[in-house]
Amino acid sequence: MDFRFTEEQEAFRQEFTSWLEQTLHEVREGDTPRSFESMVEWGEAARDFQKRLFEAGYAARHYPEEYGGQGRPTEEELIVSETMAAMCPEYRHPLVVTLGLVSPTILTCGTEEQKKKYLPKILDGTHVWCQGFSEPNAGSDIVNVSTRAVKKGDHFVLNGQKVWTSFAQMADYAVMVVRTNPDVPKHKGLSYLLMDMKAPGVEVRPIIQITGDQEFNEIFMDDVKVPIDMLVGEEGQGWMIAITTLMFERAMGDAMIANTQLKGIENMFAVAREVKRSGRPVIEDPRFRQELAQAWIETMVLKCHGYRNISQLLEGGVPGPEGSIGKLLWSETGQRTNEAVMHLQGPLSQVMKGSPWSVDEGRWQHSFLRSKGYTIEAGTSEIQRNIIGERVLGLPKDASRAQRA
Ligand SMILES: Cc1cc2nc3c(=O)[nH]c(=O)nc-3n(C[C@H](O)[C@H](O)[C@H](O)COP(=O)(O)OP(=O)(O)OC[C@H]3O[C@@H](n4cnc5c(N)ncnc54)[C@H](O)[C@@H]3O)c2cc1C
Repeated sequence: MDFRFTEEQEAFRQEFTSWLEQTLHEVREGDTPRSFESMVEWGEAARDFQKRLFEAGYAARHYPEEYGGQGRPTEEELIVSETMAAMCPEYRHPLVVTLGLVSPTILTCGTEEQKKKYLPKILDGTHVWCQGFSEPNAGSDIVNVSTRAVKKGDHFVLNGQKVWTSFAQMADYAVMVVRTNPDVPKHKGLSYLLMDMKAPGVEVRPIIQITGDQEFNEIFMDDVKVPIDMLVGEEGQGWMIAITTLMFERAMGDAMIANTQLKGIENMFAVAREVKRSGRPVIEDPRFRQELAQAWIETMVLKCHGYRNISQLLEGGVPGPEGSIGKLLWSETGQRTNEAVMHLQGPLSQVMKGSPWSVDEGRWQHSFLRSKGYTIEAGTSEIQRNIIGERVLGLPKDASRAQRA
């Protein structure tokens, strides 16, 4: 594997970086990353940024032209995503479900009409999507989904509840896993639907997280009509298509997340120079130096793992169960890095944003609290270890699940 860019790719990287620097200067009205008052305001800023990317010809350049892309090599999309992850992750975050999960699933499993109708509006920033998989009784075990979809003429009628749905309060559409047949083995009775979030009967209630943000939500569906042409694949294929979505969720972002984390580690070094213990900067203390070095090493492992995934994807096909390795790496490294910054801040780690004594304006306190969700979202660490054990290493199924199956 050779991770170096070709001359042409390097020229493209420089061209995109100059465009990004100039555009960020305009939208940030200066050089400081923006913070947002609410998730909805954050979502609007991300849509606006996506529109700018699209108009400048940098949105999903590797997608076919008929779906809004430019048919360019995937490496160019990688360059765009990596550069944005390092320079402005805030403009990608509210679109992470839309661009990272929904659009590749529609591209891989959708009908021709679905691809032509939905993909261009995703790429140009018009539509934000959310992912309605989890329910109060279905998380790790997605086969327990009980939201019911009953076919009536040319549409399905949906009743049920989803939970932990990130970005639902700003979403125009959702991808939904629903039960269309309760009389067959559980995983064969699920179907995968696209749902208009503005349809009558859809109610979204935001949930306040430990950070104080309202990133995720409950969705209640009361006799919601979904036209039959919004079914992805065949009826009964929902489980298989949901697994495809989850594999994209677990495999695609590793190299990008590594770039965002490396930026965080640069800032962690700055904090270690600023904070003093017994009159000396903590960066001089061997215990903290170990933690700083460890954070950097683990993030570089993640980055190399991400490149390995991308090399495999460039050779064709959709991501496989190896995506679980990257999910474990980014989530657990991310948590350890945040914990390390709390250690090195010492008593100052208790001082939150808004206080004159907060370190780095309390950025790391917010990030530390948010990192608690890393090992739950996109599948818990225990589930990733089960997948790696069973599907990558070929170990026997875990006893509790083997009995239930
Ligand atoms: C920040 C955040 C954003 C999220 N966004 C979304 C979203 O947009 N859309 C969406 O659909 N969902 C979303 N989720 C939900 C997430 O996918 C689920 O929380 C996750 O899959 C776990 O499901 P659960 O909460 O029901 O826990 P459970 O599945 O009930 O698990 C509880 C505990 O049991 C363990 N466990 C379960 N089964 C096994 C097993 N077989 N072996 C070993 N241990 C096991 C788990 O690891 C966990 O520790 C989000 C969650 C978070 C934290």
